[in-house]
Amino acid sequence: MIFESTICAPATSGKGALAIIRVSGPDSIRICEQIMSFPDPGKKLSEEPENTTHFGNITDGQYILDEVIISLFRAPHSYTGEDSVEISCHASPYIQKRILEILIDKGAFLAKPGEFTQRAYLNGKLDLSQAEAVADLISAESKAAHRIAMDQMRGGFSSEIKSMRQELLKFVSLIELELDFGEEEVEFADRNQLKTLVEKILSMTRDLIHSFRQGNVIKNGVPVAIIGKPNVGKSTLLNRLLKEDRAIVSEIAGTTRDAIEDTVSLEGITFRFIDTAGIRESADIIENLGIRKTYQKIDQAAIVLLLADARDDKKIIIEAFNEIRRQIKGKEKQLVLVINKSDLNAECSINTRDIILHPGEYIINISAQKGDNIDTLTRILLEASELGNLDDQGVIISNIRHFEALSQVSESLQRVLSGLDSKLPEDLLAQDIRQALHYLGEITGEITTDEVLGNIFKNFCIGK
Ligand code: GDP
Repeated sequence: MIFESTICAPATSGKGALAIIRVSGPDSIRICEQIMSFPDPGKKLSEEPENTTHFGNITDGQYILDEVIISLFRAPHSYTGEDSVEISCHASPYIQKRILEILIDKGAFLAKPGEFTQRAYLNGKLDLSQAEAVADLISAESKAAHRIAMDQMRGGFSSEIKSMRQELLKFVSLIELELDFGEEEVEFADRNQLKTLVEKILSMTRDLIHSFRQGNVIKNGVPVAIIGKPNVGKSTLLNRLLKEDRAIVSEIAGTTRDAIEDTVSLEGITFRFIDTAGIRESADIIENLGIRKTYQKIDQAAIVLLLADARDDKKIIIEAFNEIRRQIKGKEKQLVLVINKSDLNAECSINTRDIILHPGEYIINISAQKGDNIDTLTRILLEASELGNLDDQGVIISNIRHFEALSQVSESLQRVLSGLDSKLPEDLLAQDIRQALHYLGEITGEITTDEVLGNIFKNFCIGK
């Protein structure tokens, strides 16, 4: 047990019938004992066994503040690894505030955001990537985001990293032992075995790095840009996709829309529309292809929806399509040419004879206003998201901190491999392996700094 202080905070938020106040730390049971009275006057919380619940009253001076259920946990068998109490009270803001005031009056401190989870990590109940997954789990809004967070919290990803690290550690120790023998030609670490191991870890690392693209879009939504000249129907399409009439659609080009919610969830996958407020401002993409704003938007997107009007000149549409195609070349983006207003020109027009589609490109005719073919557009969006069936896939990482650390691991291991090929001196080889070990350790928190910890836990909510 490393902490002397006892902390408390509400663990629930929003309206509801009940609320939970969490108390953790060495004095948590003693403090709660002081503020409780039980039907059996002789009952003492501090003498009760762990993992038990107790009905009683919280007293506020001579008044009864609330009837509550208390859950009692003892170190190390609690979330934080410390003695802890969870008070399940009625959710009145007054009751919750008063309970916290009474707890603080008896010596507890109000917990900082993420402090319970930080204690759990520092007490060895969770490693760092598991602790981060707790925050992801709480904020998961889709089935896919939930699955990734749950896998990570249950440690699938950390155990892989830890075992890679252990195996590498053995080798670096042997190599460092060789160094102690100075001039003598000894080789404790079998170079072929080391090479096989490094190749194995490198391939696992690369798989994880690749999975980040998926993990990131699952967590934050697949970024989609809707571009096209004014009046082609961008707002109308967005509306249609959001299935709610939040956008103000008007014949007058340049009318801005109200602040809008810009994500839509299709079959468990979140799509995030970029700069929806700027949709109106994106100006004439054909006349003014240099417009930086549109380009920035395209840069941020994984899927670009280029909208055209079914009545537009075919040549101009093809020209615009080719321009965007050039713009995104080699950038792993998907491009969908959406010919809108098909209701006004049914036999339009552009098809796969006019444009030979490359992989990752689509053409579709829709009427955003009438809702024609929106189902097919939804299918295209799902396909273009490239998320496939998540159940078939292995570990997916979704945390940029992990992605960056793994990229460093991969670079260091790449150097180890070339070092092995070029018979690099032991000390330099060991240095590269140590570096890979360092970054692997950063992910799970075996190696960490206060700054890293501070950044991670400050994003948690209070009470977690
Ligand atoms: P934006 O400037 O690209 O955002 O275009 P808007 O969504 O504001 O649409 C401009 C005009 O085109 C509005 O009057 C819409 O009602 C109309 N419009 C949009 N989609 C369609 C469509 O599929 N069919 C028809 N007939 N009109 C449409």
